[in-house]
Amino acid sequence: MLRRIDYGDDDLIITFFTLDRGKISAIAKSAKKSTQRFAGILELFSVLQAVFTRGRGKGLLILKEAVVKQPFSNIRKDIKRTAYASYWTEMISQWLEEARPQAELFHLLLHVFAKLDSGFSTGEELSILFQMKFLALAGLSPSLSQCSICNIETEKMEKNSIMFDLAKGGLVCEKCSLNSFGKIYLSKGTIKQLLWSGSSDFEKAQRIRYTPVALDEGLKFLEAFVPYHLGKQPNSLRFLQKIRKAGI
Ligand SMILES: [Zn+2]
Repeated sequence: MLRRIDYGDDDLIITFFTLDRGKISAIAKSAKKSTQRFAGILELFSVLQAVFTRGRGKGLLILKEAVVKQPFSNIRKDIKRTAYASYWTEMISQWLEEARPQAELFHLLLHVFAKLDSGFSTGEELSILFQMKFLALAGLSPSLSQCSICNIETEKMEKNSIMFDLAKGGLVCEKCSLNSFGKIYLSKGTIKQLLWSGSSDFEKAQRIRYTPVALDEGLKFLEAFVPYHLGKQPNSLRFLQKIRKAGI
């Protein structure tokens, strides 16, 4: 479940990310009134097995039945975990078109939810992994291997701290940076860890232990890069950054 909004006094409109149909919206009738039918089931971030029907005409799908497969309730019990999960689901909601299957993205979300729920990895670590993988699947990967102007390889750049230009979608070497207005800087170590996170080797990507510098730089960078490409600052990201600033 990606999103849940009130509809009238009794109903809910829910956005689901399904394995075989991608993003779909459905109405859960009397979900707020009923104490039996959907009680304790329609919770954000949970994985459900659900049955839908289509009403007359071409209206919204109607949720008929639902059972919980994975509740991921530890995410909802913790404000910071909730903030990260909300950001990831909002990214998916904004980017995905209705009814376009994205099985790899579905499994990626399932993976980070399971790790977040178990407390096995932190929200910070998972958020770097999720954002880098998401960008790769969306065909929006940042260009981190070379200067986006003169193509010199990152390895061969002299300075350790390298400018990233959002508008160019890539790194800019020191020589070319004179005519660039990037405000984000990444160190070579961070760039290496980001590249691993986004690589196709998922096993390797999820074993990375980020250095504190890579976590800090990586999150700042991705939380600027992702909204730039979505064309909108997700509300949940504002909330996430607020509670992070408050030291929660
Ligand atoms: Zn250059």
